[in-house]
Amino acid sequence: MSLDKEFYKNIMDNLPEGMAVCDSDRNIIDVNKNFERLTGFSKEDLLSKNISAFIKSTKTGCDNCSQEVSLLDDYKSKSYYIGELIDKDDRLTCVRINFSIIKDDKVIYLIIPLADVAFLNRAHIDFVSTVSHELRTPLTSIKGFADTLLGSGDRLSDDQQKRFLGIIKSQVDRLTRLVEDLLTVSKLESKKDKLIYKAIELPKFFENIVYSIQLKAKEHQIEVKIMPNLPPVWADSDKFEQIITNLVDNAIKYSNAGTKVLIEAKFVGENADFMEINVKDQGVGISEEHISKIFTKFSRIDNPLTRQVEGTGLGLYITKSLVENMGGKISVTSNNEGSTFSLMLPVATYEKPTQRKF
Ligand code: ADP
Repeated sequence: MSLDKEFYKNIMDNLPEGMAVCDSDRNIIDVNKNFERLTGFSKEDLLSKNISAFIKSTKTGCDNCSQEVSLLDDYKSKSYYIGELIDKDDRLTCVRINFSIIKDDKVIYLIIPLADVAFLNRAHIDFVSTVSHELRTPLTSIKGFADTLLGSGDRLSDDQQKRFLGIIKSQVDRLTRLVEDLLTVSKLESKKDKLIYKAIELPKFFENIVYSIQLKAKEHQIEVKIMPNLPPVWADSDKFEQIITNLVDNAIKYSNAGTKVLIEAKFVGENADFMEINVKDQGVGISEEHISKIFTKFSRIDNPLTRQVEGTGLGLYITKSLVENMGGKISVTSNNEGSTFSLMLPVATYEKPTQRKF
């Protein structure tokens, strides 16, 4: 087999969907392993048969019309059908059929069992329902306090009115943070954000971040240790700032006043292409069973401090995605004396500015 053919076969066989390539009369000329699995027929049995023998009674899936159509009808104006796949034992599986026309009027069909599509929809529905819940909590509180101020504000003391307005403001701040985090998640997931890489000198960079965080966190001591002669890091400066700010903010949120947060940057082992940046706290720690959950969307682990401090549960998901988008890695170790979040990030070398991608 030539290298090209082997490459093509490898791609086809590794697709999660069933795939069939047909000639202009829709007779099958090739199938992948998943198509054989879905139909229960071997490739030899399938070749030269018309695809309509295996995919039946399709309904258009692109609009609200549910009229029955033949698979061969009008395929140029639609991008997919919802239909049924008939297997060797005449069992029907509800499938989504995506297709595209390639050279010489050949058609590639991709067959996705609807149970798999339903799984994707389920994740989407869960996300929308969690977001709605997260939005509703502060909105309910804002509405409640605003109603009280409007209805009986004149009977409340100045102090009470101020306290209620303070709660309204802090709930609006919470909503703003949540909406900002959601926008970041949406940009990250649609890969719309373009990264602008440059060499970032760490001493100045950390000095600025620590200065602005220390203004809000006067009861914690933030210390920075950078290995002598460490080269700059190769990163998008805004995103890098967001990553370090998220980690240091968390280190402060989840540790008691009077404790220390240490940011250190160094080489580990022989690898000079990556540097390690650690954010270490002396906080409440994260138990073994929860470590794998903290990087997923909306995961807030219950501990005495999580109940006291505000958060969206999106920070570490965003942080991990940003680190990985920049070619890095993030990990965490933790015990009841504190946690250490470790980043591996690429080092800026002389060649980097001339490279478009690395
Ligand atoms: P949040 O907005 O809740 O802070 P994150 O995604 O940043 O969301 O963090 C997820 C959860 O991981 C937090 O709710 C907290 O329980 C836990 N966590 C994050 N950082 C730390 C830390 N430094 N020490 C202890 N627990 C942490």
